[in-house]
Amino acid sequence: MKIRTSVIDMIDLHAHTTASDGTDSPSALVNKALSAGISTLAITDHDSTSGWAEAVTALRPSLSLVLGAEISTLTLDGISVHMLGLLFDGEDKSMQNMLAESRDTRIPRMRKMIELLAADGINISLADVMAATPVGATLGRPHLADALVRNKVVASRDEAFLELLHNDSKYYVTHAAPTPEDAIRQINQAGGVAVIAHPFASRRGEVISAATFTNLVSAGLHGIEVNHRDHSQVEREQLAEIADQLGLVKTGSSDYHGQGKLNELGENLTDPDQWARLESLASARRVVTK
Ligand code: AMP
Ligand code: ZN
Ligand code: FE
Ligand code: FE
Repeated sequence: MKIRTSVIDMIDLHAHTTASDGTDSPSALVNKALSAGISTLAITDHDSTSGWAEAVTALRPSLSLVLGAEISTLTLDGISVHMLGLLFDGEDKSMQNMLAESRDTRIPRMRKMIELLAADGINISLADVMAATPVGATLGRPHLADALVRNKVVASRDEAFLELLHNDSKYYVTHAAPTPEDAIRQINQAGGVAVIAHPFASRRGEVISAATFTNLVSAGLHGIEVNHRDHSQVEREQLAEIADQLGLVKTGSSDYHGQGKLNELGENLTDPDQWARLESLASARRVVTK
């Protein structure tokens, strides 16, 4: 007789580390996922794969690791869209070029945001921001937020975003980014699967319309992140319906950032059948196990 241990699959397909704006190192993230009983975890830093190697080294047998990235994109209308690329080939040159280009323009973008803040008497320097940024991390607004906290301009990352750094703020500047369609094509070309992250998270700023999904599917979109803390129940229902109509995979995930945000690992999960389908759409079986 085969004895099955009571394994409940806990699949969390979106988490950040100090390779971008998370506060846990890749190995700390893996250890926390193990303690939380997660069975499948994706590491998805902003525009970077630099956390992959350390996460792989920290793996233990009960955890499967999905290597990925969250790619910042901009529609032609200037709407910010985050695209999760999972299971793509990390050695793919054009993918790495696209990610590097986005990271590079985040430095002049940070300078511009600092200038706008300075013009209103909010004093923060690039050196302050760099001091709040882990070495090698993709530079982002959360690091600016941390520097503002250190300089006692605001009390928390959350307050910094609420008051100064949100997408509709006069201090907000975008960085160069591919369109969502370009990012999707790039993910496909590198053998991975593309899942649009928190597409209806309206409290972050303007979001894409339901009609836009058709174009994304033509470009090769595989899935929609439906269950995410920034979606209301109504938004989840709308997205589930869009996914069903378009034959897309539905995911759920925490978007864990460590101490920087309230998001807890595993707070939203992906159904095992949905994950099996998503994984089967990648060009190779690249889930890492020990
Ligand atoms: P950036 O890529 O530099 O535009 O920064 C975007 C990041 O800011 C996203 O990863 C979000 O996780 C983070 N973010 C957005 N809103 C908030 C917030 N209210 N509190 C903390 N982090 C936030
Ligand atoms: Zn982030
Ligand atoms: Fe995101
Ligand atoms: Fe994220």
